[in-house]
Amino acid sequence: MPAGGGRVSPLPAVHAVLSAPDAAPLLDRFGRDDTVSAVREALDSLRQAGHTADVGQVVVSAAAILDYRHRPRVRPVFNLTGTVLHTNLGRAPLPMEAVEAATAAMTGAIPLEFDLGRAKRGDRDDLVENWLCRLTGAEAATVVNNNAGAVLLMLHALAAKAEVVVSRGELVEIGGAFRIPEVMSRAQARLREVGTTNRTHLRDFEAAIGPKTAALMKVHTSNYAVIGFTAQPAEAELAKLAHDHGLPFLVDLGAGSLIDLERYGLPHEPTPRETLAQGADLVSFSGDKLLGGPQAGIIVGRKDLIARIKKNPLKRALRMDKIRLAALEAVLKLYADPDRLAERLPTLRLLTRKADDIKALGERLLPAVQAAMDGKARVTLEACHSQIGSGALPVDLLPSWALVMRPVTPIRSEGRWLEQMAAEWREHPVPVIGRVADGALWLDLRCLEDETALLAQLA
Ligand SMILES: *Cc1c(COP(=O)(O)O)cnc(C)c1O
Repeated sequence: MPAGGGRVSPLPAVHAVLSAPDAAPLLDRFGRDDTVSAVREALDSLRQAGHTADVGQVVVSAAAILDYRHRPRVRPVFNLTGTVLHTNLGRAPLPMEAVEAATAAMTGAIPLEFDLGRAKRGDRDDLVENWLCRLTGAEAATVVNNNAGAVLLMLHALAAKAEVVVSRGELVEIGGAFRIPEVMSRAQARLREVGTTNRTHLRDFEAAIGPKTAALMKVHTSNYAVIGFTAQPAEAELAKLAHDHGLPFLVDLGAGSLIDLERYGLPHEPTPRETLAQGADLVSFSGDKLLGGPQAGIIVGRKDLIARIKKNPLKRALRMDKIRLAALEAVLKLYADPDRLAERLPTLRLLTRKADDIKALGERLLPAVQAAMDGKARVTLEACHSQIGSGALPVDLLPSWALVMRPVTPIRSEGRWLEQMAAEWREHPVPVIGRVADGALWLDLRCLEDETALLAQLA
């Protein structure tokens, strides 16, 4: 009820705000419904706070509400964490070839499940299967949403209601609740764990095999290393044992680099080709870890087993979409020319970046960053180590250089200062994500390719 006695409302009416000339650009940009709801929201909060405001002020706060509402949540950030394949920052950046292929697939029709030669229904796996077989030496391949899905599917298709034998040293938890024992039970397979945390022998596997056994499995311990007094049977031995009992040998390889990384001066990581050559019947791995492609779970290996997987209803539930299939095909094609791969595939380019080049980049940036942080932080250029990330090669660190922020003078609440400093870097138009360690904020420059963009937002 409006109060009597000629009191004027301290706030304008919604229609008055909307018909003001100032509101026209908002209506134009955001449409009527969204603008009306923002004006109402602005008026409500002014009313609740007991403020008065004129039409112009209401338009300004409605504009702020709309800007915030429409700001993309998916937006670029600078990954200066020092972790190249950072799961929380989207893992592998894709090459332009993949971007172009994905764009074409997004904006139009593609022969996703259509055999162009014979004009009949095809299988979406056919788009990438030839490349995957060529690059791994496998007979057949299939692709699903991610490697967690690939492992779930593989186990459900081949071992539902039966036992899968795994070493106790490999009951891995990957971030985000992927744990082998739990995936196993969701796949309706029974985990038969053998051996101990540090040592498992071939005879442990052998003793566990019985009428209920459906497969032997090896899980690449990608995000940790057991060192010291350890033993695990060789893959070739496990494969032979499995085959002697008419069982398949399955391997979850995790990162699954498609090529020998030593060729590029990086530490060795087992490849699907090597694993198949050791006798594995199926190998699963991620598309967006060391492979450097879009999120995907790839299974390669024996044709009859892949055929069983393709018939499983979970395959349909976990299938890949056309956009990522297009990107994956484009990335796989780059592997045909390993000589140029380190230039063309961003993941490999970043992983193989030379410490001296990163240092030179740091020297170019240092004066501008020091000037921008003048009085706020003491900035130095220091050697550090980057990580590959995504669980790949957990103990191997890559020499790198970082811009390091510390308080100008020693302070007591250092933890708070560091949090604030990190938050300040995240507030840039393109947020800069660093790493807090050893009483400093580290901006590892390994993954900084666009230095001009970083400098532009410092100014
Ligand atoms: C990363 C990883 C997974 C999960 O793969 P996503 O592609 O992230 O689903 C499964 N197993 C191992 C050994 C891994 O390293």
